[in-house]
Amino acid sequence: CGIVGVTGTDNSLSILIEGLKRLEYRGYDSAGVYVNDQNGHDYLVKRPGRISNLEAALTDDVHGLAGIGHTRWATHGEPNEANAHPQYSQDDRFYLVHNGVIENYAQLKKEYLADVHFASQTDTEVVVQLVDKFVVQDQMTTEAALLKVLRLISDDSSYAFVLMDREQPDTLYVAKNKSPLLVGLADGYNMVGSDAMSMIKQTNRFMEIEDHELVIVKPDHVTIKDFSGNEKQRDTFTVDMDE
Ligand code: GLU
Repeated sequence: CGIVGVTGTDNSLSILIEGLKRLEYRGYDSAGVYVNDQNGHDYLVKRPGRISNLEAALTDDVHGLAGIGHTRWATHGEPNEANAHPQYSQDDRFYLVHNGVIENYAQLKKEYLADVHFASQTDTEVVVQLVDKFVVQDQMTTEAALLKVLRLISDDSSYAFVLMDREQPDTLYVAKNKSPLLVGLADGYNMVGSDAMSMIKQTNRFMEIEDHELVIVKPDHVTIKDFSGNEKQRDTFTVDMDE
C-alpha cells in the first residue's frame, strides 16, 4: 500500500500515477486518485485491482493542479470501488487517503457520527466524516478540525494521512503515526509520498515527518505543527541517487 500527494503543478495526475507505480512493490488490492484543477473542477477516480485499471478509467478531461493518490491493502471492508481511497465526506468536500488502521473507529463512529450516511465499510471514512462534521457543524477551521480528530484517534492506531479540502484546493494536510510518510520539495511545487523513491523523479530534497505532527503542504511552503498547534522547524535533507 502507498500514498502520493502533490500540489502546485499542472502535471499532478501523471506524477501521482508514476509515484503509485513506484510504490507497487509494497502490495495493494485497489487504487485511486483525487485531483482538483483549482478552477472549480475536481475528479475522484477509484478502481479495484491494478493501477492499469485506474489508468484506463482516467479520461482526458481528468487533470489537476493538486491531488492525492493511494494504493490500498484492505483491512476493513473488501477490496471494491466504494472501499478504495480517497474516502470522502458525505457533502463531497473532504478527500482523504490513509494507510494503516484506526483502532477506535467504531467507537468514534458511534459517539460522533450516528446520523451520518456512510458510503464504505472502511475505518478511514470515519476520519474524513469527522473532519467534515467539525468544520461544517461546529464551524471549526479545517486545520483545527483535523487536529481535534488526530487527538481523538487512539494512539495504538497507525496512519499515514493526506487530506484535501475542496475549498482550499492547493493545500495538503498531512499526518502520520507508525506508518511511513515523507515530504518532497520540488522546483516550484511540493509533494508527499510513502518513500523517497516515489518522488525521486521529481526531487531529491526531502523533509521528515514525525509522529504526532500536522504538516501543511502548499506549493511554495511547508508548515509543521505539534498537536497543540505550535510551529516546529525542520531541516531538509537530500538523497543522492548515485551513491
Ligand atoms: N484501513 C484502511 C482500509 O482498509 C487502509 C488500508 C491501507 O493501509 O491501505 O481501507
